[in-house]
Amino acid sequence: MSAPEAIGIVGAGLVGCLAALAFAAKGYEVTLFEARPDPATVDAGQRNLRSINLAVSNRGLRALKYVDEDLATLVLEHVIPMKGRMIHDITGLKQESQLYGLNGECINSIDRSFLNDILLDELKKRNVKVHFQHKLVRMTNVDAKPTLETINAAGEIEKYVFDYAVGSDGAHSQFRYQMQKHMRMNFTQEYIDMQYMELYIPPDPNPQTKFSIDPNHLHIWPRHDFMLIALANGDGSFTSTFFSPWSLIESIKSSKEFVEFFRRNFPDALGLIGEQALKEAYESNPRGSLMQVSAYPYNSPKGKTIIIGDAAHSMVPFYGQGMNCGFEDVRVLMELVDTHKGLSQAFIEYSPARKADLDAICKLALANYHEMSSNVTNVWYLAKKKLDYT
Ligand code: FAD
Repeated sequence: MSAPEAIGIVGAGLVGCLAALAFAAKGYEVTLFEARPDPATVDAGQRNLRSINLAVSNRGLRALKYVDEDLATLVLEHVIPMKGRMIHDITGLKQESQLYGLNGECINSIDRSFLNDILLDELKKRNVKVHFQHKLVRMTNVDAKPTLETINAAGEIEKYVFDYAVGSDGAHSQFRYQMQKHMRMNFTQEYIDMQYMELYIPPDPNPQTKFSIDPNHLHIWPRHDFMLIALANGDGSFTSTFFSPWSLIESIKSSKEFVEFFRRNFPDALGLIGEQALKEAYESNPRGSLMQVSAYPYNSPKGKTIIIGDAAHSMVPFYGQGMNCGFEDVRVLMELVDTHKGLSQAFIEYSPARKADLDAICKLALANYHEMSSNVTNVWYLAKKKLDYT
């Protein structure tokens, strides 16, 4: 019997971990490289994650089920279903529920670190090698025997040779850059004029109520040019995100002005977050930028390397589909693997099979900012939507 083919995967984020599980389930010998330390060895407060929670949709759940039915069940046991949006008006006195569908359709809030941890735990159970603090710095033999050069915590360069390699190292992918040096891969990167800042709504002090607003909705404070959203966490708290043009946040010069801005625009949210906590958030919470990345093709010409997840298609977060789409990349790729004798052919066929859907979802993600920040308050638009449903 011949030895299994070896695959190196760069980036142990959500998408890289799922891809590693999927390849391991098909009998490949998988090694995963991650620049950051093992989260099991890092304090929860220092994990530097992009968002505390995120929305997992049917798209993502379908991919999880494809890879591992039990894992999907475990995820579903830990989600908070959101059956619609809850729109908060500017007086802070009125909330309006807008259901996503007539048949109980929902998206689901889940803790990002919990999801990453269960994927990593599963990898450990299946004896997939995970090298933390191994940052990819160079790749050679990109379309023959991909050779990954990583720098470890001691600053030493290590070399690993594989039959195939997969890049899932996020929007600023080094893997993608290394591929681009050896092939004609188109690439665009575009920042949108928006920043985001995460805020925290604590659990309700009354343990009976636990949540201070309804946990089964995605809460939106739509104010056209800017907006606030909030998703529930299992402990009764909410992770809230404030989106605005950079010029707006930069025009607010002090924490006191920030509180006054909230009092005028999000009075009920100010009550939920608390004045002191909001002041501290203004002083110390990071402000993130948002960008779209697109690349094509995703694979090298002979099908030895490929990029998936944000490395291939980073999108703005307004549609809540970035990770879900990355998970779908894994499912689509694996279904191609199922129908082919070799990985190369599957990698080659993946790019044309996937492009139209990825282009479409990136456009929808951008368009959904207007849906969330404006259209949800437009009575004519809502009346038309109701007609569309019936
Ligand atoms: P990443 O999560 O970026 O993981 C990449 C990994 O690669 C990281 O662990 C990184 O340390 C590692 N790495 C980077 N460079 C190297 C290197 N040189 N060598 C080795 N390792 C390296 N998506 C949803 O589906 N639903 C949501 O509700 C949602 N909400 C979001 C909210 C916000 C505010 C933002 C910013 C994004 C949101 N997203 C959401 C998008 C989602 O976060 C991303 O699409 C998803 O994290 C992409 O996963 P990934 O594994 O491809 O990349």
